[in-house]
Amino acid sequence: MTILDGKKVSNEIIENIKEKLEKINKKIGFAIIWVGNNPASEIYIKNKMKKCEYLGIEAKLFHLDETVTENEVIKLIEDLNNDESIYGMILQSPVPSHINIVNCFNKIAYKKDIDGFSNVSVGNLCLGNPLHVSCTPKGIIKLLDYYNIPLEGKNVCLINRSNIVGKPLFNLLIERNATVTMCHSKTKNLELFTKNADIVISAVGKVNFITADMIKDGAVIIDVGINRVNGKVMGDVDFENVSKKASFITPVPGGVGPMTVAMIFDNIMNVIKEEK
Ligand code: NAP
Repeated sequence: MTILDGKKVSNEIIENIKEKLEKINKKIGFAIIWVGNNPASEIYIKNKMKKCEYLGIEAKLFHLDETVTENEVIKLIEDLNNDESIYGMILQSPVPSHINIVNCFNKIAYKKDIDGFSNVSVGNLCLGNPLHVSCTPKGIIKLLDYYNIPLEGKNVCLINRSNIVGKPLFNLLIERNATVTMCHSKTKNLELFTKNADIVISAVGKVNFITADMIKDGAVIIDVGINRVNGKVMGDVDFENVSKKASFITPVPGGVGPMTVAMIFDNIMNVIKEEK
């Protein structure tokens, strides 16, 4: 069994980007919009800002009060669209329920839509011609590629149909000629699909959701889930037992999470390439 070491792979990607940025020697601004005070968001944002600092990217955090209106968020996005020093931006989710996050995503200029969540970015992904692919799905594909895990002709069981994970990942996988079964909370007899899969990707958000009896010998297991249990971060997979049957498996933490962060900077590099 091989651990898919997202920490190591993401560090290599970050080092490679650092080298490229040093050669370019340009001021690159990256805006993070954070509405409210979600504690998980705070951790993610701190991580992203730390990486920006390491890479010499100028991170600008716009921390807005919980009571801000959707129009005020959109006004900020429009200002950032017009600011040439800003190469890209993200709107951290979740946002308070009175704000329609999709409306806000759709106001982000296509080139600056680093998370790839706008309708245009998602549409281009479906058509196979994306500029920015959302970071978690992109990071998963990069990790599989790094370990030379083939996708063509493979049966993939993807347990998630959200806009940020399942739907973009489905498109990337079929683009690579995998056969994908997309499962969700209304799927009946989930084990039928997981047991038949060469690759199981779980992004459910439930600890020990994937157990050893649900997978076939030699399966590749990608654990996207992030669950906080007594201050400890855990995935969806019963790692101890599943890893005994799997051929490759991602740990949590240290698997998909760091790849997601690295892909933000991979996407910022797309903007720089487009500029040339
Ligand atoms: P989400 O929108 O809540 O999606 C969860 C998915 O799991 C839904 O499609 C849901 O089905 C499905 N599901 C729930 N219970 C199920 C069950 N009993 N059987 C089968 N499917 C079930 O969450 P998300 O934003 O996509 O995130 C999913 C997980 O990934 C979370 O733990 C999140 O923290 C983590 N995540 C990690 C990263 C990373 O970088 N590592 C990035 C993003 C998200 P329905 O659609 O029917 O509700």
